[in-house]
Amino acid sequence: MNYQDIIGHKIEIESLQRAVKKGHISHFYLFEGEKGIGKMTTAKVFAKHILCRSQNSESPCGVCASCRKFESGSHPDYIEIAPTNGIIRKNEIDNIKKQISFSPFESARKVILIDDADKMNKESQNALLKILEEPPSYINLILISSNTKLLLNTILSRAEKIHFKPINASDMVNFLTNKENIALDRAKLISDYSQGSIGKAFDLIKSEEFILLRDDVLKLVDYCIFGRDYMVFEMSENFTKNKEISENVLLILLLYLRDLFIYKSTQSELFLINKDKIELIKKHSILEFDKINDIIEKIYYTKESIDLNVNKELLFEALFFSIQEEY
Ligand SMILES: [Zn+2]
Repeated sequence: MNYQDIIGHKIEIESLQRAVKKGHISHFYLFEGEKGIGKMTTAKVFAKHILCRSQNSESPCGVCASCRKFESGSHPDYIEIAPTNGIIRKNEIDNIKKQISFSPFESARKVILIDDADKMNKESQNALLKILEEPPSYINLILISSNTKLLLNTILSRAEKIHFKPINASDMVNFLTNKENIALDRAKLISDYSQGSIGKAFDLIKSEEFILLRDDVLKLVDYCIFGRDYMVFEMSENFTKNKEISENVLLILLLYLRDLFIYKSTQSELFLINKDKIELIKKHSILEFDKINDIIEKIYYTKESIDLNVNKELLFEALFFSIQEEY
């Protein structure tokens, strides 16, 4: 794995490469941005680069003892932690503190990477703060977070922040067509549904289930619009089996309604995401703009309520019934 394997984030990567090349690496980085857009991949290549033995290089060399140990997951100066059961506890931070008290073994530096750093509870964050107050000179710490609101201000203020933006659609489509050999139409569909998250795109590539789920969701929309709303009870049960499915259902609905809106406004297929569903989109254009907006509002409401652990089945039933209501 090297910098050129990362999709997008060109400016951010160049600044990291410069830092290593010039030897101006910060002690403490925060990689922030949404899930699945490449923060972790970038952090790992950066860590490998920091530890690489060839000096002043643009990228990790890939052949030195350090690079080889890093690749095989056995580098003694690299520590990576992530939440267990959704939480990073203080004893893990204490453990890091112990490990960094020894000088590096293999490289000139030691790198600690904390994934989903916002899953540290208060005690853990305070323990980390202690480390940040007096870090050993050979330490580089990288925190990764998609929800920095949960981190203490005293931690945030100390970090050099690298902000990762969602990957733009053309980079994503290029990657999917060139590297993953996916046909252009499908690549565009995956790109639109993954909304800049390469992690999500990979999930979608693997998942025929997603395509079937989309068929089901749109079928139920059709039933609701044309008065067969009793199907809601039968079908929405499948939409609430787990959080991932529920989130996908809402995303499918949202992007479908976006298409309806655009098609009604432009009467053109050009900007549609669900181009393959054009016949259905035409048929459903009978929904008024206000109605479409109304349903979109309800989707956002449903999404927020799910995050607050409100009963998913009731929420989905209410959502789909709202599509039917006036017809
Ligand atoms: Zn190397």
